[in-house]
Amino acid sequence: MIHLEIPKRLRPLVTQAHALAENCLRPIARKYDLAEHEYPRELDMLGALLDGVSAGGGAATASQLRPEPVRDARDETAQPSSVARNGRNLAAVLGMMELCWGDVGLALTIPRQGLGNAAVSAVGTPEQRERFGKRWIAMAITEPNAGSDSAGIRSTARREGDEWVLSGEKIFVTAGERADAVVVWATIDPSLGRAAIKSFLVPKDTPGMRVARLDHKLGIRASDTATIVFDNCRLPLDAILGSAEIDTSKSFAGVMKTFDNTRPIVAAMACGLARAAIERAKEILDRVPSPVADARSPWLGSHVQAELARLEADLEAARLLTLKAAWLADNRIPNSLEASMAKAKAGRMVTEVTLRCVELCGASGYAETELLEKWARDAKILDIFEGTQQIQMLVVARRLLGKTSAELR
Ligand SMILES: Cc1cc2nc3c(=O)[nH]c(=O)nc-3n(C[C@H](O)[C@H](O)[C@H](O)COP(=O)(O)OP(=O)(O)OC[C@H]3O[C@@H](n4cnc5c(N)ncnc54)[C@H](O)[C@@H]3O)c2cc1C
Repeated sequence: MIHLEIPKRLRPLVTQAHALAENCLRPIARKYDLAEHEYPRELDMLGALLDGVSAGGGAATASQLRPEPVRDARDETAQPSSVARNGRNLAAVLGMMELCWGDVGLALTIPRQGLGNAAVSAVGTPEQRERFGKRWIAMAITEPNAGSDSAGIRSTARREGDEWVLSGEKIFVTAGERADAVVVWATIDPSLGRAAIKSFLVPKDTPGMRVARLDHKLGIRASDTATIVFDNCRLPLDAILGSAEIDTSKSFAGVMKTFDNTRPIVAAMACGLARAAIERAKEILDRVPSPVADARSPWLGSHVQAELARLEADLEAARLLTLKAAWLADNRIPNSLEASMAKAKAGRMVTEVTLRCVELCGASGYAETELLEKWARDAKILDIFEGTQQIQMLVVARRLLGKTSAELR
């Protein structure tokens, strides 16, 4: 049975997240867009507040994602669960939509809500979750020679006695400077290709690890983006996330699984931002005198209305895909296809919606006195990180055509 409304149990979470976005994020959004690399101290309190809310079981955020073991719903012999579940994944995307209605860059900077937290929560052992659950964890996959093609990762983790020795360079690490630890992807045997890529938990003060630089960016300037160098970092054996065994049929799929949970979150960020832009554009267009009231042609008003309706429909399509991808994860149904569809659709949608809102509002849309111009800059990253638009379409095509990554690249 399909229920398209927000579950009753999750409505307080949506209300709380919206209030935080409105009162804590929106008012300081421009300040930290202008003061790039300055740490938003105001968010410490918000992080503590979210910890409290999570501890009370009231709200689930990215840090709490814990996928259930997946059953194959497309396998006709699989027994569907009789009760549809609305769990942590749905809660996380609903919460993120609201926070990003407030500000995407700041939402990425809330302590202890990093994508690395989602990875630890998803694949960490109970001991790792206990040790790192309350810390802020960034995610370091990208390297100078491995972006979309994460199988090309050259960072290495070699085993020496009771330790892993990690070396390599990671670029574009969100919260790389501010986080307490980083989940780092590295190969444990370069001769075995992608099957040997594993992820490792590296605390910030580990000798040999250093933040080499912070990048200046087009958008999400409140979020720090770092280059981190690992030079013979010695880590305990239990720093590995998941198994150290190299299973050529499953190993890379293991680390890639994190994306099934994080891609719907990025899609949700896009939905929240797009909604903010449409709402603000409508407010600006309703002002008097407005482009609509000023219409030199009787057609202009209806054109603007039609455009806004088209953008809203596009947003709703992305939102429903995002909710479905998260709902599938909550119900232990494989969701790689839907997670990539949602991310591709939402990334495309938010870049178009925010730019179109700037355009519809004319000079007001472009001016620094409005957040619309900032939102148009912030939007593009949502179509790039956690896999670009083109990579999502590749994943979708592979799934639909039943091709492997070797067959369709
Ligand atoms: C602000 C910011 C924050 C980021 N945060 C993180 C983070 O926290 N952790 C992390 O690990 N990474 C992060 N990234 C990196 C991000 O995930 C990568 O930029 C992204 O995966 C693309 O990789 P690339 O930049 O190397 O581009 P490339 O892979 O070189 O791609 C360049 C272009 O070619 C296209 N392309 C590549 N391969 C194909 C193909 N097979 N078919 C069709 N088109 C293709 C791509 O879609 C893209 O348009 C961040 C990046 C930015 C800018």
